Amino acid sequence: MRKQILIIGSGIAGLSLALFLKKAGIECTVYESRPYKKQIGSSFRINRSGVQVLNSLGLIEKVQNNSYSADRLRIIAPKNIEAVTINLMQSNNYGERSIFIQRSDLMEILMAKAKEEEINIQYNKKMIKYTQNQDSITAVFEDGTHAVGSLLVGADGLNSVTRQQTFPMHILKYANSWALYGAASSKEIEGPLNPLLMSKDEFFYLKKNVVFYVSKSHPNSHYDISWQASGYKERKLPFQDFDGKTENQLKEDILRMIEDDWDGILPSIISSSKIIPKQIFSIDPLPSLSNNRVIIIGDAAHTINPNTGYGSSVALEDAMYLAKMLRDYNFKDAFYYFEFDRKKRIDSINGLLNSFDISRGIDFSKGFDIGVFSGAKIDPEYTIEW
Ligand SMILES: Cc1cc2nc3c(=O)[nH]c(=O)nc-3n(C[C@H](O)[C@H](O)[C@H](O)COP(=O)(O)OP(=O)(O)OC[C@H]3O[C@@H](n4cnc5c(N)ncnc54)[C@H](O)[C@@H]3O)c2cc1C
Repeated sequence: MRKQILIIGSGIAGLSLALFLKKAGIECTVYESRPYKKQIGSSFRINRSGVQVLNSLGLIEKVQNNSYSADRLRIIAPKNIEAVTINLMQSNNYGERSIFIQRSDLMEILMAKAKEEEINIQYNKKMIKYTQNQDSITAVFEDGTHAVGSLLVGADGLNSVTRQQTFPMHILKYANSWALYGAASSKEIEGPLNPLLMSKDEFFYLKKNVVFYVSKSHPNSHYDISWQASGYKERKLPFQDFDGKTENQLKEDILRMIEDDWDGILPSIISSSKIIPKQIFSIDPLPSLSNNRVIIIGDAAHTINPNTGYGSSVALEDAMYLAKMLRDYNFKDAFYYFEFDRKKRIDSINGLLNSFDISRGIDFSKGFDIGVFSGAKIDPEYTIEW
């Protein structure tokens, strides 16, 4: 049977896979549970490897016109003390830099390209299960319809139905972190914005168990400033204390959390932002990513913790690599090589948080310890009594 691929989910992984399959001359259809509309959401970092994938799709000019790429990262300790400035050693070539971009802008760029390439995207198609036999695989949708293909790729994100059916014993677990994602307009912020934030730099505000990341994320749109706050929590917060709060209540909480530590522009940015709260969940590494004619990619497969800053880069890398393997091999070998070759990369990214979990912040109460850069968990209170 010719390869006819059913892609479940039109997020970053699903759309970029469809574009690479088109390049490889392989037929596919994308099925998306939501209706078509411009997406809302916050912004994220895409690392150099992910930007290179977008470059391979011929999208770099559009990405450059809709993103921000800093040259330096400034780490700000409480009392606005600048602790460290890191030169990010960015390339002069935009296609090889790490960037910050609104998720909605990246989705628009990918959807416009999918339209240009005449990729078939079916909206309002929520897959509820799949069935497979020796020759084909069938996706069954909530509206009573179904679609038959030779292979099915689950690119259906964190709460993946494809993963739940394929690996039912692997459930999402709380990943010890809450996060708030904010977007603000530089035109609405009171007081002068740091010119470095508006031109060359991104800022990490760090203290024990809390981190704020603030960056420009668009050269000229209304919401041009983005931030993420995250913090370590042993146990998940109850709904009424976090997800269920109003935006104003969340702002009050976060302003209270920082009031003794950072004054100046940070409170003003938070006050004028729209905010999305999110408690972070993940799954343990899966025993495999495929089962006969089905495979999972992106967040469905790895639930990359957003505190690593790698989720969307991994989704882009997965899409390109799987399409390349499917172009070059029969599906069994393609799935085998995809899993084998990507494992080391995914393990190293997931392992990042074991050595340095940014949501734990940095405790500057006893000064700055250079050991944080080794990835070790340094106790700032450590002393030897004689
Ligand atoms: C608010 C927020 C902030 C984030 N910040 C960062 C960050 O700073 N850095 C970073 O790297 N990553 C970040 N991430 C994560 C990043 O967005 C994901 O890791 C990345 O988008 C993975 O893409 P994906 O295509 O695998 O999944 P998704 O983007 O989740 O796409 C899955 C798609 O599948 C669809 N779908 C789901 N179920 C079904 C079904 N049953 N049938 C049909 N369709 C279905 C969904 O509607 C969705 O369109 C953030 C995520 C969020 C939500």
